[in-house]
Amino acid sequence: MKEDNEPFSTSVFVRGAGEFFVFVRWTSYHCPECGHVFRRDYWVNSVHLGTGKRTCSRCGAVFDDGSREWPELPRVRKARVLCPPLLTGICGGFLLAGVLTCFLPPKGVGAALIMLMFDLVLVAAWSLVRLPWVIQSVHRYNARP
Ligand SMILES: [Zn+2]
Repeated sequence: MKEDNEPFSTSVFVRGAGEFFVFVRWTSYHCPECGHVFRRDYWVNSVHLGTGKRTCSRCGAVFDDGSREWPELPRVRKARVLCPPLLTGICGGFLLAGVLTCFLPPKGVGAALIMLMFDLVLVAAWSLVRLPWVIQSVHRYNARP
């Protein structure tokens, strides 16, 4: 069971304030039997690796928590595991800055290439951090009867 929480989305006191607080939101995931919150996400549609089965720590009910193993994920969701929204935003910002510097004197593509290389290093580093979780997920998937 999933519930989106957006405390500032309906701000009526200051016009536009709701848009400023758009990043202060989260999604709560509840046990379908007793309502116990087992996870809070601050990103929309986060991808979680796991068997999908969770046992509630309060009532002991077993339910589908929405997690899936790596081989079960479509390519787009795999890419999201390796390059989450915050990293995508940072990389996009650096790439945009690099492209914009191409139009400033002295003109050259050096800065853009440096930013692109920096982005690639960031994504590669983050992918290495996530690699153990991906390997564990593949092993769990292959060990299924
Ligand atoms: Zn429960």
